[in-house]
Amino acid sequence: MAKSKLEYIWLDGYKPTQSLRSKTKVVSNFSGKLEDLDDWSFDGSSTEQAEGGSSDCILRPVFICPDPVHENGYLVMTEVMNADGTAHESNGRATIDDEDDDFWFGFEQEYFIWDPATDKPLGFPANGYPAPQGPYYCGVGGQNVFGREIKDEHLDLCIAAGLNVEGTNGEVAAGQWEFQIFAKGAKQAGDEIWIGRFLLERLVEKYGLFIEYHPKPLGQTDWNGSGMHANFSNSFLRTAASKEKVEKVCEAFRPLVKEHIAVYGAYNDQRLTGKHETASINDFSYGVSDRGASIRIPLYTKTHGWSGYLEDRRPASNADPYKVAARIIKTVKPVK
Ligand code: ADP
Ligand code: MN
Ligand code: MN
Ligand code: MN
Ligand code: MN
Repeated sequence: MAKSKLEYIWLDGYKPTQSLRSKTKVVSNFSGKLEDLDDWSFDGSSTEQAEGGSSDCILRPVFICPDPVHENGYLVMTEVMNADGTAHESNGRATIDDEDDDFWFGFEQEYFIWDPATDKPLGFPANGYPAPQGPYYCGVGGQNVFGREIKDEHLDLCIAAGLNVEGTNGEVAAGQWEFQIFAKGAKQAGDEIWIGRFLLERLVEKYGLFIEYHPKPLGQTDWNGSGMHANFSNSFLRTAASKEKVEKVCEAFRPLVKEHIAVYGAYNDQRLTGKHETASINDFSYGVSDRGASIRIPLYTKTHGWSGYLEDRRPASNADPYKVAARIIKTVKPVK
């Protein structure tokens, strides 16, 4: 009897930032299909998701892919449900209103590879700083690149798992990297980013390193923070053929700055200062090719006759892509 190893993955209830949790279920003769997966349960009192007296929470499988590391292994993304079958309040995925997958999302996940031995990013000496920012973005050569083998190994894992990863690049700070994942459907995009994060975090365990998603881990220095730019479109934007329509979507965000920032990640005020390719957290702006704006209208959208997509540059690297997508959909869907 063939045994399969199913890694059930979920988001815990920690505030202000939820983290990944997982545990392994061994089953016999598994078909490999999502619909053949059973719900499972866990001790919610150990993850800030329940009280000890009634601790069981339910894991409901929503996405499956092969685990590229383990033979007969699968990664199973799950939603956390209460014992009565309703969505747990920590469950951002359940708040996404995109049943027809009209919304496409491309998230750009930035992160630092962090060395606990120095409590600094890879490439930083134990005392002081490496050479100032400049040569690191898309850099080449041992004086500029710290952790490429990890970035590349992660990319291969994402591809082997079947994720729709579209690219990677070295970022502006030393030891800082990015991967991009695109999906047609907000839930799918969120699932794939979370699985991508899982593969990355699990990968660096074996090197004694961790991934730092704090949006400004080096404080108010001249080192960039990390974001998770949210590129999005719906059929309205993809077929707009009109500058006015595209700007109408942008304007819909203006009165909702607070509501968006509330789900764009903790400590994002430290990152959205108006410097280092960001807009101030208190302002709202948009513009073609403007990397200092809240929302950038990509040149693509302008040159393709004002049909295309938009980039909300405000979400932080530690934001939950489910909650970011849910909020963007809430703002954009009513625009006609
Ligand atoms: P940059 O670093 O210049 O902001 P990237 O290439 O890192 O750009 O990321 C751009 C993202 O935009 C990609 O992930 C891509 O999939 C996404 N994207 C492109 N077209 C669309 C679209 N129509 N709807 C949603 N996302 C899109
Ligand atoms: Mn036990
Ligand atoms: Mn990018
Ligand atoms: Mn970037
Ligand atoms: Mn971007």
